[in-house]
Amino acid sequence: MIALREHVSLAPLTTFKVGGEARYYAEASGAIELSEVFDYAEKHKLPLWVLGGGSNILFADKGFPGIVVRIVPGGIKVKGAKIMVGAGVPLMNVVWSAKDAGLSGIEKLAGIPGSFGGAVRGNAGAFGTEIGQYVTSVKALDQKTGMVHEYIQAECEFSYRTSHFKKHPSLVVLSAELTLHEGGDEALLERIIKETMATRESKHPQDAKCAGSFFMNPVVKDEHLLKEFEKDTGNASKDGKLPAGWLIDHVGLRGKVLGGAQVSPKHPNYLLNTGTATAADIVMLASLVKTRVRDELGVKLQEEVQFVGF
Ligand SMILES: Cc1cc2nc3c(=O)[nH]c(=O)nc-3n(C[C@H](O)[C@H](O)[C@H](O)COP(=O)(O)OP(=O)(O)OC[C@H]3O[C@@H](n4cnc5c(N)ncnc54)[C@H](O)[C@@H]3O)c2cc1C
Repeated sequence: MIALREHVSLAPLTTFKVGGEARYYAEASGAIELSEVFDYAEKHKLPLWVLGGGSNILFADKGFPGIVVRIVPGGIKVKGAKIMVGAGVPLMNVVWSAKDAGLSGIEKLAGIPGSFGGAVRGNAGAFGTEIGQYVTSVKALDQKTGMVHEYIQAECEFSYRTSHFKKHPSLVVLSAELTLHEGGDEALLERIIKETMATRESKHPQDAKCAGSFFMNPVVKDEHLLKEFEKDTGNASKDGKLPAGWLIDHVGLRGKVLGGAQVSPKHPNYLLNTGTATAADIVMLASLVKTRVRDELGVKLQEEVQFVGF
């Protein structure tokens, strides 16, 4: 039987560095180990939470009353233009492996924290690239049925920060296959990776205690607001979406402090734990942001970050 630890602090397992304890905690790397944990949870009627790299999650101060199972790295296999990756592998390792194999496509994903499985589930993306563009198949385990199914690209329903797996929370991504472009110049790919990481760092310190962009960029229909954005930034909105950070700035909340939480002065869509934040501080700040943006601009923000145990 897989080892279950008791009363494990969740804060160090997340990039926000807040949250209480998991009543039970396990680490698993594949379908067999995960199924064991799922069976145990079912038998003992315990709630269950699957964790990847903890970079898009906010655990409650009271913790989680059941089992948190963290998916730990499996392997990476490269064959021609294809890369097969286990869900627990850090996304950054996949970016480097592609570069080493002279495969291009995902270099602009460099610097996105978290696991490969978490990235596939949320269709992680940056600078015009999304992981879903390159995913050709995904193996997922259904917590409800215990069955493993392989999904082809068309079944994955990738769109902005979502996928079939996010829409069906009982599905746990075990591994996925990417198909990239062959014949990439390794030195050039390395340069793009390093430049991408430097650009990210210049926009915001990437080791801040946060979960990256807190809200998804909303589709905005208000022509007046769209025009104001264009006038203010010199950029047109993309697919009718406005950056959540611009909207938060627009209602005057850049830098706003609430308890130990702060709207980042540098990137207003990053909510920060300044070092002493509780999860409750972050939730209250998020709620204030949502209310102000809704009341003053008529725009509904939706969290990208997942709240657990509230
Ligand atoms: C500084 C910083 C910058 C960031 N920049 C970006 C960015 O540019 N673009 C972007 O898209 N994101 C960004 N993020 C957010 C985050 O890194 C991504 O969302 C990441 O893909 C989350 O992966 P994770 O493994 O950390 O997921 P976790 O935080 O561990 O989990 C998030 C959700 O995914 C689920 N999950 C995790 N693994 C699996 C799995 N194998 N199967 C099914 N569900 C799973 C969890 O249950 C949870 O619901 C940033 C975060 C930080 C801290």
